[in-house]
Amino acid sequence: MRAVLAHGPFAAGIIDRFVAGPTDADAVAATARLADLGLRASVDLLGEGVTRPDDALATVLAYLRLLDLADRAGIAAGLDVSVKLSALGQAVPRDGRKLSYENAAEVCARAAAVNATVTVDMEDHTTTDATLDTVVELRRDFPSVGAVLQAQLLRTEGDCRDLARAGSRVRLCKGAYREPADIVHRGRPSVRAAYARCLGILLAGPGYPMIATHDPALIGVAGRLAAELRRAPTTYEYQLLHGVRPGEQRRLAAGGATVRVYLPYGPDSVPYLTRRLVEKPANLLLAVRALGGR
Ligand code: FAD
Repeated sequence: MRAVLAHGPFAAGIIDRFVAGPTDADAVAATARLADLGLRASVDLLGEGVTRPDDALATVLAYLRLLDLADRAGIAAGLDVSVKLSALGQAVPRDGRKLSYENAAEVCARAAAVNATVTVDMEDHTTTDATLDTVVELRRDFPSVGAVLQAQLLRTEGDCRDLARAGSRVRLCKGAYREPADIVHRGRPSVRAAYARCLGILLAGPGYPMIATHDPALIGVAGRLAAELRRAPTTYEYQLLHGVRPGEQRRLAAGGATVRVYLPYGPDSVPYLTRRLVEKPANLLLAVRALGGR
């Protein structure tokens, strides 16, 4: 019943697979379980599209509580938190951009104090420039802040060249948002080809690429490129979503790769779970089975 009330159309089975749970204690416990399997975590407080400063402040306070709890549990060092600028106030009328920067800086400061890092998730294309500019500003005080680039966008190879710098952490994903046709590569094969080219740029550079995909072909390309370029496994990492290809997560880690699992938590999971279902409609079957108690 809790799941139905808090998560609208989603059944407990699908929530449990993709989301650590509703509370920060759930996120910390799941992070510790991943660590036992040799996997790192990037913890994400679910929520986005905030339009009131008070709601953005609530997001900040929740991240501060999470980082403090992780610190008390002894698992903060090496932990990453993923933040969405739209949850930190980017869309608040008038001063949203400034507000989201200040709020993100507060999260970055607490993360730095407990030896954790922050990665700024990328949202839809209307926010790409503002988000990348905010990452640049944050990196002046917090050099480890990570950016995310979406290979489906035509602009992204250029952004990869700009960001393939020493010290920069860049997560490369395909992109989870439905965008206007004239700004994206069309069709799965061309998005995959664009991802491979972006990967080549990032892995050839001196930064720290974070290879966020479950696509077996691209994981293969990454492994081959990293070997050709003689990159040590400590100089890049694979990232996969919690609940997606868990066997592959363990296989990569067992082979000596650095693997980080994107771990969402919190009560507001509907937009996140909707994106996961769009990517993989077969997950609907899981949801229906869970509703039927099977
Ligand atoms: P796909 O071609 O979609 O999938 C390849 C295979 O992976 C599938 O055949 C299937 O076996 C498996 N798979 C993929 N998705 C699912 C699923 N939902 N359920 C079950 N199996 C699945 N997008 C953004 O726009 N901004 C971000 O900041 C962002 N951060 C991300 C962080 C991480 C760590 C990851 C892994 C993804 C992130 N994404 C983000 C989402 C990303 O853009 C894609 O939408 C998503 O990863 C699916 O693309 P794929 O490369 O895995 O390949």
